[in-house]
Amino acid sequence: MTPAPACRACGAALTHTFLDLGMQPLANALIAPGKGKTKERTYPLHIRVCDRCLLVQAGAVADPKEIFRDYAYFSSVSETWLAHAKAYADGAVERLSLGPASRVVEIASNDGYLLQYFIAHGVPSLGIEPAANVAAVALERGVPTDIAFFSAQTAARLAARGDMADLIIANNVLAHVPDIGDFLKGVRLLLKPDGVFTAEFPHLLNLLREVQFDTLYHEHFSCLSLHALAAIAARQGLTLFDVEALPTHGGSLRLHAAHAGARPPGPSVAKVLAREREAGLDGPQGYDGFAPRVAKVCDGLKAFIAQAKSDGRTIVAYGAAAKGATLLNACGLTAASIPFVADKSPAKQGKLLPGSRIPIRPVEALDEARPDYVLILPWNLREEIIGQLPQVQGWGGRFVSAIPEIRIWPDAH
Ligand SMILES: [Zn+2]
Repeated sequence: MTPAPACRACGAALTHTFLDLGMQPLANALIAPGKGKTKERTYPLHIRVCDRCLLVQAGAVADPKEIFRDYAYFSSVSETWLAHAKAYADGAVERLSLGPASRVVEIASNDGYLLQYFIAHGVPSLGIEPAANVAAVALERGVPTDIAFFSAQTAARLAARGDMADLIIANNVLAHVPDIGDFLKGVRLLLKPDGVFTAEFPHLLNLLREVQFDTLYHEHFSCLSLHALAAIAARQGLTLFDVEALPTHGGSLRLHAAHAGARPPGPSVAKVLAREREAGLDGPQGYDGFAPRVAKVCDGLKAFIAQAKSDGRTIVAYGAAAKGATLLNACGLTAASIPFVADKSPAKQGKLLPGSRIPIRPVEALDEARPDYVLILPWNLREEIIGQLPQVQGWGGRFVSAIPEIRIWPDAH
């Protein structure tokens, strides 16, 4: 028997399985045209929970540099996300009285989708982004961007050249970080004494409640509860003083942190910790029983597709997101069931989804195929996608999502 891996956060032996999806390809590793016959690499997708610090985490796989070097996800493609970013920037500028003498640093700044709004307010801003192709888009739109992985070492380099920040932002990046302790140490090094760090991340509590298992993939090293994160932050000299619940990504938290002792913790932190305790997330047993619920989601989707086929109905998918790749692979679905997935990102079109090998086509392919059902893979953008595709209902088609169970819009014919 191979020895149990060690917890990324505290080093304890990981012996407690949360969900084991077997061998899977990297969910974002789209297959380029002409490479369809190449066998792709697969890695165990075994999610465990640490019995000691309760961090839910995937095992070590590929080098993160391999995962993020040529990333195909451009934040600005989603209109919902842009509106969310603008509202955040406007609020932060006012709340923290940011101006020309301030500095905002965003970690994993993607294509500048968020910092552009701070720059519009005249606030000096710096993005840190490891994917060079995505950073190039940010630079083109006038968002200063440092192409780097954020770590304590990166932070020390930026601090030494005088880039200390009044506000450091990390949205949907903590899950992508192999060593959250080192990352938060970097935040502390780069944060001015009265500075604020905010981070948004999908909340493990919602993942459990809504069976959002498709957000568990190799590129996500961990899935966070406030319990687990508060402990890691405290060890790095940061205190969480506020936390907000957000609807993004199926239910996220936005935490606000500062140097330990700089700001007193507000009641919101204790409130979320209490909600986690009520759900049993403060002990290892609260994480049991997830796998059968995942199996039920897959059975539901496969039964729906089988029924649709026997009724002579056609079904295609929409949104070539990583979570979609995870869902389709967990269910063992291929192009035999779902002939293509439509996606509006030109960087993805013409490629194949990893594992399932389902081709990615432009949105126009939907209009040609006129399917009876459009399976929405990024369920977190469901309303936006339905709004963008009025033609589907025009030809009598309907939308379907599979998590936490099969749901159909419009629901009655
Ligand atoms: Zn641990």
